Amino acid sequence: MVAVPQGRPVPSAKGTGRRNRRPKRRELFCPAHPEQRIEGNGKKYFLHLLSPEELQQRGMSAKRAQLIIHAYPVLVLSNEWLEELFCPQCGTSRWCHVIKHDRVEHTVRWAPRNLWEQVAHVDPTVANPTASEYSRREARRHRQKRVDGKRFYD
Ligand SMILES: [Zn+2]
Repeated sequence: MVAVPQGRPVPSAKGTGRRNRRPKRRELFCPAHPEQRIEGNGKKYFLHLLSPEELQQRGMSAKRAQLIIHAYPVLVLSNEWLEELFCPQCGTSRWCHVIKHDRVEHTVRWAPRNLWEQVAHVDPTVANPTASEYSRREARRHRQKRVDGKRFYD
């Protein structure tokens, strides 16, 4: 017989305890140096999903993923993007795949090269403040061309 401990677990940290007046800045940490905050110029390249499998990888059921891709042939994620971030400890900027969990918390990992194929026809070397808008339009226009596997990162 297993004894069930009585009483509720005490939450170790109360997130809602004290309200901070000033808005908290987003927190991005270097994948290689977990204590090191890293910064970029804020330019984000949002990811476009084109297959139901990509949605399933993000926790969606197969059926729902099918429906969504059918309704939106090019689905732009608002909480995942590629961004070039500088780490002082690495001493260099690198392209990172950022996943936003809330205003402050983010997951950062080095961007695998193939993710650039999901950033529709945006050249990361060209400065363009409306890149995400642009790419959304281009993604639609160049849907057929995307299949040719054109890369931006080589
Ligand atoms: Zn680093």
